[in-house]
Order: sequence, then structure tokens, then C-alpha cells
Amino acid sequence: MTTTDTAPWTNWAGNVRATPRVVVQPTSLDELRAAVVEAARRGERVRVAGAGHSFAPLCATEGTLLDCSLLAGIETIDTETGAATIWAGTRIYDLGEPLLARGRALANQGDIDRQAIAGAVSTGTHGTGRGHGSFSSMVRAVEMMDADGALVTIDGADPARLRAASLSLGLFGALTRVTLHTVPAYKLREQSRALSFDACLDGFL
Ligand SMILES: Cc1cc2nc3c(=O)[nH]c(=O)nc-3n(C[C@H](O)[C@H](O)[C@H](O)COP(=O)(O)OP(=O)(O)OC[C@H]3O[C@@H](n4cnc5c(N)ncnc54)[C@H](O)[C@@H]3O)c2cc1C
Repeated sequence: MTTTDTAPWTNWAGNVRATPRVVVQPTSLDELRAAVVEAARRGERVRVAGAGHSFAPLCATEGTLLDCSLLAGIETIDTETGAATIWAGTRIYDLGEPLLARGRALANQGDIDRQAIAGAVSTGTHGTGRGHGSFSSMVRAVEMMDADGALVTIDGADPARLRAASLSLGLFGALTRVTLHTVPAYKLREQSRALSFDACLDGFL
């Protein structure tokens, strides 16, 4: 586990700055639990950062900042159901090839792939196309650590809690693993053409 005391933290864009008392980068659930329990003992607020690509001050804190980058990797891909269980800190750019190797893909994504999966889920990051849902809509289950350091699994058996945990802005607990619905692998064809503004709006709507 890496801990950095009173290290300045900035988001990717540089418009949000904070000086947490400590930035903790756990390498295991036990280390994550130790950081959460210690923050609770101090009465501190805890924020969780993904890749820091949000423009809003979602991760800023003077207390404990958890950086889950090292809780990363794909745990399982179920080719029957399409469910992929992914550690929270996994970057989106690390998902494509392992999913493709199992004949699966993300249904959609935004215009960059730098985000951590938990960060993308927690803000409802979305791509384009009216027929496509956001990352939150792909969530089938989450595992998260609550403020007592307990690991909680939330799935479709409790749909209201699952919806809350799937777009929480990091306020519901520290996500540790997310299970996403994936789709059969597909190819995209890029088409570029110039349109008038009106034709563009007509085609879009
Ligand atoms: C260049 C650029 C392009 C973008 N393009 C798009 C786009 O096309 N579509 C779109 O919808 N958005 C887009 N965004 C926004 C971006 O996808 C979101 O801000 C996303 O949340 C960033 O993910 P992150 O991993 O950097 O999360 P952070 O910014 O680090 O965190 C975002 C939120 O997730 C929470 N969080 C992170 N990890 C955890 C965890 N383990 N447990 C609980 N909560 C957690 C944080 O507390 C915070 O509330 C773009 C941003 C940039 C900078």
C-alpha cells in the first residue's frame, strides 16, 4: 500500500485541487478496509478517486482520498450470460482486448477510454446514440466497502439499491468490483460526411 501524507491532488484537467490529509493507494481489500476504518476513527470524510477525469470537485477532500488504481484487472467473463466482473480501478482501455479474446465487448463508451471503470460507472459516463445506455445501465452487480469496512454485494435482487450504487458520485461506498453486462463482439464502420445543420438535426432526432 502506498500512502502519501498531505499530498496535493489535482484532477486531470487541473481545475480541481485539494490537499487530502492522506492519499491511500490500497493493493488489497484488507488495505482498503484499514484505510476506511482509520478514517472513520478520525471522523474524517473519505472520497474515492478513479482516474481523476471528472471536471467537477467530486474527489476533493481534506480527509482521506482513496485511489483504487491498483485494485485492477478483469476477474471473470461469463460468455454464457455476458457478465464481466471487473476490479474498480481497471481503466477502460484495458478492457477491450481481454473482452474481445472471449468474444465480448462493451456495448458503448464515451469519447475517451482513460477512465477507471468505477469512475465511469459512478458518474453515468455515456457515449452517443439514443439507443445506447450509459455505463451505469450496464451494471448488473457491485461489490463495495461501506463506512464500517464491511464488504457489501448489491445485485438485481435489490434493484433500488443497485440503481443507487450504479450512479452514486462516489457517495455510497467504495466500489471494489463491478459486474457489467457485455455484448457479443462487433465491428464498427466509421462514416464521415458533411451535412447542413438542419439535415444533421433531422437525422439526429
Ligand atoms: C477529455 C474527457 C472526455 C470525456 N468524455 C466523456 C464522454 O464522452 N461521455 C461522458 O459521459 N463523460 C465524459 N467525460 C467525463 C468522464 O467520463 C467522467 O467524469 C468519469 O467519471 C471520469 O472517470 P474517472 O475514472 O476519471 O473518475 P473520477 O473523476 O476520478 O471520479 C468520478 C466519480 O467516481 C467516483 N469513484 C471513482 N472510483 C470510485 C470507486 N472505486 N468507488 C466509488 N466511487 C468511485 C468518484 O468519487 C467521483 O464521484 C470526459 C472527461 C474528459 C476529461
